[in-house]
Amino acid sequence: MTSSSGSPDPSGAQRRPLLNRRLAEFGTTIFAEMSALAVRTGSINLGQGFPDTDGPEEVREAAVRALRDGRGNQYPPGPGVPELRQAVATHQQRRYGLSYDPDTEVLVTAGATEAIAAALLALLEPGDEVVALEPYYDSYAACIAMAGGTRVPVTLRPHEGTDGDGGAVHRRFRLDLDELRDAVTGRTRVLLINTPHNPTGTVLTREELSAIAELAVERDLLVVTDEVYEHLVFDDAEHIPLATFPGMRERTVTIGSAGKTFSFTGWKVGWVTAPAELVGAVRSAKQFLTYVSSGPFQYAVAEALALPDAYFESFRQDLQAKRDLLSEGLAEAGFAVYRPAGTYFVTTDIRPLGESDGFAFCRALPERAGVVAIPNAVFYDHRAAGAPFVRFAFCKQREVLEEAVKRLQHLAY
Ligand SMILES: *Cc1c(COP(=O)(O)O)cnc(C)c1O
Repeated sequence: MTSSSGSPDPSGAQRRPLLNRRLAEFGTTIFAEMSALAVRTGSINLGQGFPDTDGPEEVREAAVRALRDGRGNQYPPGPGVPELRQAVATHQQRRYGLSYDPDTEVLVTAGATEAIAAALLALLEPGDEVVALEPYYDSYAACIAMAGGTRVPVTLRPHEGTDGDGGAVHRRFRLDLDELRDAVTGRTRVLLINTPHNPTGTVLTREELSAIAELAVERDLLVVTDEVYEHLVFDDAEHIPLATFPGMRERTVTIGSAGKTFSFTGWKVGWVTAPAELVGAVRSAKQFLTYVSSGPFQYAVAEALALPDAYFESFRQDLQAKRDLLSEGLAEAGFAVYRPAGTYFVTTDIRPLGESDGFAFCRALPERAGVVAIPNAVFYDHRAAGAPFVRFAFCKQREVLEEAVKRLQHLAY
């Protein structure tokens, strides 16, 4: 076998690497290494972000019913089943006052992952630049590369403040608007935004979003916005879709997903909402990736989206309590905690523990404490900027988080 870095053939000449140059830099995802480490050491895996309990029973039953009734067992329609497209349109209207035509302005995808890939493959010409918030979700860089684009990271910077009355410390990763403005060039085609943001847990504020919108309008950019954590916001944080800002609906591809909102990450049902012309472009790429997927699950997700507000509220409350449990436990263990305003994740700074290399820390943590976490540096181009940060997932059962917290208390020296 040839390795991806190329190896000599019998004649001694260097053979061409199997993996093409666009993908060679990406290697294997860190989640594979860390999950294997978790199994080998019997550690609690707070690395990958998937819930350890399934979503609502009635939604699971809806999938069983669809499957038994023979709905979706054969290729569903290319744009998605009408029931789900209607449910997505109704959801956008009910939550945000955004109006989309279910027939022409909604597209169902194989999770948000395919929506991101299809959008970038559809919208980019080779050489186009994509400005994306760093650290970023791991598929962004690879999809930009597959589309022949060039990524231009804008780094979210850690910020520390205190209450007006000199009380508690608040830490948050925030967008430097000047840095964002400077990143846009004549070659920029797409702004790729993610809010609520994985891995930092930041929810972009109205001011930040408004500045992004103004820039997009001023420079006539397309915006692809990954809002898969739209329902997972805590305290008084508010998720505001970018498409609601002036001049944005017509240039914005909004991406949603059932995986995180309903705790069925294996179903891979996602969607795009955008004006017909943009949806048409994304569909052009999507039809040759999966064509269609998740037939019976599409009907179940249509029902899930119509669940009463009480479902979304109780899920949010439950997750918020878990965030508090893990954040407080990590703080007690000596980490500097960036208490997240949204998502499944809490980012920590390991420097108060006398550490500075997140990679080394995460590789040693299973042996030291029996817990697996992810070094945020894997989500950065500027690795040094992410070096001291480590991400823990809290979408786990309470007892699991309690046990993890207990194990981590022995870290401080
Ligand atoms: C989990 C996640 C996705 C992938 O969503 P799927 O619907 O499972 O494909 C996309 N973006 C972000 C930021 C995520 O955290």
